[in-house]
Amino acid sequence: MTGLMSGKRGLIMGVANDHSIAWGIAKAVAEQGAELAFTYQSEALGKRVKPLAGELGSSLVMPCDVEDVGTVASVFETLGSEWGSLDFIVHAIGFTDRSQLKGRYVDVTTRENFTRTMVISAYSFTEVAQQSMALLNPGASLLTLTYGGSTRVMPNYNVMGVTKAALEASVRYMAADFGAQGIRVNALSAGPVRTLAGAGVSDARLMYNFQQKNSPLARAVNLDDIGGAGLYLLSDLSGGVTGEIHYVDSGYNIMSMPRLDELRR
Ligand code: NAD
Repeated sequence: MTGLMSGKRGLIMGVANDHSIAWGIAKAVAEQGAELAFTYQSEALGKRVKPLAGELGSSLVMPCDVEDVGTVASVFETLGSEWGSLDFIVHAIGFTDRSQLKGRYVDVTTRENFTRTMVISAYSFTEVAQQSMALLNPGASLLTLTYGGSTRVMPNYNVMGVTKAALEASVRYMAADFGAQGIRVNALSAGPVRTLAGAGVSDARLMYNFQQKNSPLARAVNLDDIGGAGLYLLSDLSGGVTGEIHYVDSGYNIMSMPRLDELRR
């Protein structure tokens, strides 16, 4: 199955280190021949991202803090002059004040952090789509990362759950908008993974263990699982799929209660 992504060029946003979900997807598509560009949020993270990008043969590595509209625009200006067009984008960006990922949503959520979380973790995907529009080839695929706390209550996920609901809605609206150009927009809803962002949720380890034990596959998902699903959604294999929220969570989202064998323990 080599060469599924041969001739395709894509942008990976959201690598912080080699545990990042974006890194898992980057490796999977690079193995299949994709040419990649990367963004990094800050100079400190850039020191980690540049060598990782180098491992996949990429030297196009650009700063981009989505709170700064200018840096988003300059990424696509650079891609326009370096490549002229683009076949896919991975948006794996999320942030909130971690002090609000603890306790009751209704008690801890402030207007300021609600707004900031929405801008960074949801609106930025729309903005990236807007800024990249002129470069996207027919058949291009846009992919973002979400979590099941968008539709069901996960303890402590709080404002991130509300924000992921907005992100998922934006996937559907943009899928409808871009459909006429043959451009697809989808989200991967990953089960818990131990990353920098994932560790910000209070009691993350308890949730990780609970979901692992109570999912049909009875195991955690890993970067290879998510990378494989990312490859599918970014490649022509999923040519008829758009507006989808595709779960990669060992099946946890289909369960209505803990597994009986776990309850009987
Ligand atoms: P991570 O910490 O490795 O990645 C988060 C990325 O967001 C980092 O690269 C960080 O630099 C970037 N980011 C944050 N604020 C930014 C800003 N202002 N501008 C630009 N970049 C910014 O963690 P991850 O778990 O790989 O997270 C990637 C995505 O996957 C997030 O959207 C997260 O919500 C989602 N997700 C994570 C899990 C999990 O359990 N880890 C599960 C489902 C979905």
